[in-house]
Amino acid sequence: MKVIFDLDYTLLDTTKFKKKLAEIFYGRNFQADYKKYFKNKGLNFSYSQYLKILKRESGVDSQMDKKLALKLKSLMNGLNDYLFPEAEKIIKYFKNAGAELILVTFGDKTWQRQKVKNLSIRKYFNRISFEPENKSLSRLLKSLKNGREEILIINDNAEEAKAMIKILGKKAKVFLLDGPYARNIKHNWPINKLGELL
Ligand SMILES: [Mg+2]
Repeated sequence: MKVIFDLDYTLLDTTKFKKKLAEIFYGRNFQADYKKYFKNKGLNFSYSQYLKILKRESGVDSQMDKKLALKLKSLMNGLNDYLFPEAEKIIKYFKNAGAELILVTFGDKTWQRQKVKNLSIRKYFNRISFEPENKSLSRLLKSLKNGREEILIINDNAEEAKAMIKILGKKAKVFLLDGPYARNIKHNWPINKLGELL
């Protein structure tokens, strides 16, 4: 069996992480900026892009720049603390059962890489893939399409899960997790909590 794990809101408590991230940008309304500059434009969050916007808008100087970089580094160093409590146990469970573990994250590549680099759970994965926004273009998913093994998709984003099923076909099953994107399309999947996998 192959298990495809998503990262944000699936293994990582991204809500908790974002709150902490917002604290780095003291004096800014991060949530509002996030909506205005990324979400509403259909763009993925990118730290470097956000920094550019801050520089343009409020003139972040190089000293400020360094300060922000240090704060971000310290947040990222502690990223393991932002995993859901059951995350490692579940990954290990499938690992011990002999499954092939694949981590697939969609989003800004640099930003997602930075997150994964700081997560100790990365060692359990046979493959880690940073995918383009357009799921149908995913080379990894296309390559999995022809295998015979069962595939379990563990993801919080219903739309994303559906797009993956569309490529992978019937041998793929979805375990949908609750989160802000669990209801972004109509579907009949039950909505679960991560701990319920065991
Ligand atoms: Mg997700």
